[in-house]
Amino acid sequence: MLKINNLSATVDDGNKTIIENLSLAVPAGEVHAIMGPNGAGKSTLSYVLTGREGYDVSGGRVTLNGEDLLDMDPEERAAKGLFLSFQYPLEIPGVPTMTFLRTALNAQRKARGEDEISAPEFLKKSKATAKALKMAPDMLRRPLNVGFSGGEKKRMEIFQMMMLEPSFIVMDETDSGLDVDALRIVADGVNALRRPDRGMLIITHYQRLLDYIVPDAVHVLAGGKIAASGDADFAKKLEKEGYDAYVA
Ligand code: ADP
Ligand code: MG
Ligand code: MG
Repeated sequence: MLKINNLSATVDDGNKTIIENLSLAVPAGEVHAIMGPNGAGKSTLSYVLTGREGYDVSGGRVTLNGEDLLDMDPEERAAKGLFLSFQYPLEIPGVPTMTFLRTALNAQRKARGEDEISAPEFLKKSKATAKALKMAPDMLRRPLNVGFSGGEKKRMEIFQMMMLEPSFIVMDETDSGLDVDALRIVADGVNALRRPDRGMLIITHYQRLLDYIVPDAVHVLAGGKIAASGDADFAKKLEKEGYDAYVA
């Protein structure tokens, strides 16, 4: 589903190579985790996948369902169903969450040549999703993420993914501390989002998160590439032994 072949990427106007000959494949229906030492380039990889400015590809190829991802601008990537969890953690004062999400959903549908979702249909879908996530209804009327607690932001992130129905999800759980409740929200959300036609890449510093998610594969990003891979138990070994063995 997502295929990364010999990807190399630079920052700082091409002066600094962060990703070097990285290859990785995530088949449909699978959840893969990426772990690795601080500064290894995990966030850089997610920025390259989303097409963020300042993160330049110097070699290699990335395809999503056979289509060349690197050829597309960020909006096209989203329309093709690529969802990056940090895409929407921004706070948008003045715009109710529902308005924002309906606009995002319809932009994607339009790009796919699909009909817009009607207001009643959208309301029904969002009510059902909010209920499933045990979200207070007033959260959807409040401006996106403004004044939300850490846990509420995480719940909102999962809500957005469920509403937008992406075909491939990349989540970068950055160093900012997730407490146990937030970890559970993310893990339960990821498990609920598992689908035979959906792939997920979870970048995490927390082995504990993987206790709840149980990924199909765990990869170590070190030295610019995938330095080692294993099954879910591999994360426990990494937690115990650290990454020294994989850093050149
Ligand atoms: P990780 O997420 O694995 O901790 P990052 O992808 O955030 O690692 O960073 C990888 C390396 O790239 C670090 O050395 C970081 O300082 C550097 N880096 C990331 N973005 C930039 C940038 N815009 N300009 C210069 N260096 C950057
Ligand atoms: Mg970091
Ligand atoms: Mg990071």
